[in-house]
Amino acid sequence: MLVTGIGPLTPKLDNQGLIVYSESMDRISHSKTEDVACLRKFAARHIWRWPTAPGISLILGNTVHDTLEWHGRQTMQGVVTEQRALLQHFNQTFVRMINVEDPTKLYSTAERLQQQSRGAVMLLAIRHWLNTANLTFLHVEEKFEIELSHTLLFTGKIDAVVRDALGRQYILDYKTAVRPWRKDEEHKKPQATAYLLAEQLLGRPPSDGVIFVVATPTETGYDVDARTTTRTPEQLETYRRFCFATRDHWQTAAKENAYPPKPIRLCSWCGYLGYCEEGQQFLRQRGFKPEVPLITPVV
Ligand code: SF4
Repeated sequence: MLVTGIGPLTPKLDNQGLIVYSESMDRISHSKTEDVACLRKFAARHIWRWPTAPGISLILGNTVHDTLEWHGRQTMQGVVTEQRALLQHFNQTFVRMINVEDPTKLYSTAERLQQQSRGAVMLLAIRHWLNTANLTFLHVEEKFEIELSHTLLFTGKIDAVVRDALGRQYILDYKTAVRPWRKDEEHKKPQATAYLLAEQLLGRPPSDGVIFVVATPTETGYDVDARTTTRTPEQLETYRRFCFATRDHWQTAAKENAYPPKPIRLCSWCGYLGYCEEGQQFLRQRGFKPEVPLITPVV
């Protein structure tokens, strides 16, 4: 489903009644605000459009997301997904995605199979949680585009919107994590603020909060931890302003043509690590292992 927000302007509509936005509008999303934290990564992805090295953890996460999306859609249509069908969808999607992302087989067959079986266990753990939580799916993979101003479009995609047995509505967001989340970590996630702001701007009945469904590996399988959070109107307004400030930040960088790197722990998973000596040095100095191949795909 595509949800399009009516902004402050008189909108121009296409023949399906959707708003046609100007090409000159900047687009901002939660993930783009995260990219701006390292301007080199931002430029590589959004300006230079460099190809990324394949990250098997990312491919696995995307496969699990894709399968949960399929599961959610089936559920909305009243179809009960058997475990076998779920795993079949997962396995086929994983093989297709990894063959597209890693055509030269940088990851060995053994690594691929190991990840694939990890993903299957993770998926079943999340499905078990979903079944136990007894949720009704209202929307799945819901895209939104909303005008924040004449020149800035706020975009994103919500994993699912659900209703629980008590009639409460929640936004669901699936997460995979290498370690359990810290206490109260969910209350600090800007992603929850972004989605709740989107609902407010769309003017529809707001959800009662966001549930992060966090899957983390244990010695024997996967643990699923559901963390519920909400935001105040003041926090939503702060995030709206943050979107403008972030756009100002990248516009300043563009004017100066200066995109410095800002290495952090997450450089391990950055698809541009092969191009980025500063990121590699940061990891080396701290003894962190790169989780992506150190290659520089042809630009
Ligand atoms: S490796 Fe780190 S510093 Fe380099 S572009 Fe990626 S996130 Fe930025």
